Amino acid sequence: MEELGQPAYRFKQIKLAAYRDLEDGFSAIDNIPLTLRLDLDRLLPFSELALKMEQKSRDGSVKALFATLDGVSIESVLIPYGDGTRTVCVSTEVGCQADCAFCATGHLGFARVLTPSEIVEQVLHFARVLKAKGERVTNVVFMGEGEPFLNYDNVKSAIQMLNDKDGFNLGQRRISVSTSGIVPGIERFSAEDWQVNLAISLHAPVNGLRSILMPINRTYPLEQLMPALDAYVAKTNRKLMIEYLMLGGLNDSAHNADALADLIHKYKEVLRLSVVNLIVYNPVKDSSGRPDRFKAPRPASLRVFEEILTKREIDWTRRASFGSDISGACGQLAGEVAPKTEEPGESTST
Ligand code: SAH
Ligand code: SF4
Repeated sequence: MEELGQPAYRFKQIKLAAYRDLEDGFSAIDNIPLTLRLDLDRLLPFSELALKMEQKSRDGSVKALFATLDGVSIESVLIPYGDGTRTVCVSTEVGCQADCAFCATGHLGFARVLTPSEIVEQVLHFARVLKAKGERVTNVVFMGEGEPFLNYDNVKSAIQMLNDKDGFNLGQRRISVSTSGIVPGIERFSAEDWQVNLAISLHAPVNGLRSILMPINRTYPLEQLMPALDAYVAKTNRKLMIEYLMLGGLNDSAHNADALADLIHKYKEVLRLSVVNLIVYNPVKDSSGRPDRFKAPRPASLRVFEEILTKREIDWTRRASFGSDISGACGQLAGEVAPKTEEPGESTST
């Protein structure tokens, strides 16, 4: 602002307009002088993301594809739950370094991390869409493209921006971060003075299988990961979500369910305050046209798995999948540009 010869409080006015009032351009900020609005429009992009496409799923979820200023694309999803919850799933990186075998994002490779503004602007886009209908974003999950803990500083800034009382003002308890198991990130997260939720993508109860599915397990195997999670629960006294992706014939047997229960029972704090969230595999498109290497579990295996967890006194839920018909479900986000099915509306900037 000083460069433009403006007092510092102008910056605050603009910030409030963007984050609290959800304005979509400098021209809409009517408490700053018109000449300044015109100057800003000429000199600066209002947003670092441009909306390229939106697709609406049969189940009501909406996937948005954005282009960044340097021309890469990222995706985010709005999930409207029946209870009125409006959850935005944001990406934290363009692609992902972790390269999990079952994940479309991993198959993309890795381009770069996203900035705090690029992360927050994904939420602001959907907040504006919802505002027009008299609704608001109630939850944000860091479960889109990318590994949040390989972009820790920017993810932390984005969380602080979303939580800012003088800005977007989203409660910390309404924010969740999912990691594939970056132990130093989990340790840093545990030491934060906040109420943000943590989810761990476990997906296999033993190292052999987990390393095949998730190469990151070779760097941070279960004997490092599990104590870090135990320490997280002990320190924060917050419930840990353990995500377990069910892959037919691979990790969905009764034996796997018992091994998962054994693992959790070994770590008393995790056992005390965790819930296993069973995710049914969503098919991932392979650009080479090869058939998918993985498949969803049979309903009968899922039932047996759930029964064993119940018998072993493990708290579990089954994740309802949203947006699989528009490749917007867990693991399907890959910044792909599919044929346009719905106009994004008048504005192309977010
Ligand atoms: N990188 C982070 C967060 C994003 S992925 C992580 O891995 O935790 C969000 C969740 O979707 C993770 O649990 C991930 O393992 C899961 N997932 C990945 N590919 C999937 C697929 N094809 N079907 C269902 N879930 C998938
Ligand atoms: Fe990255 Fe998560 Fe996909 Fe693994 S599942 S490749 S960590 S986005």
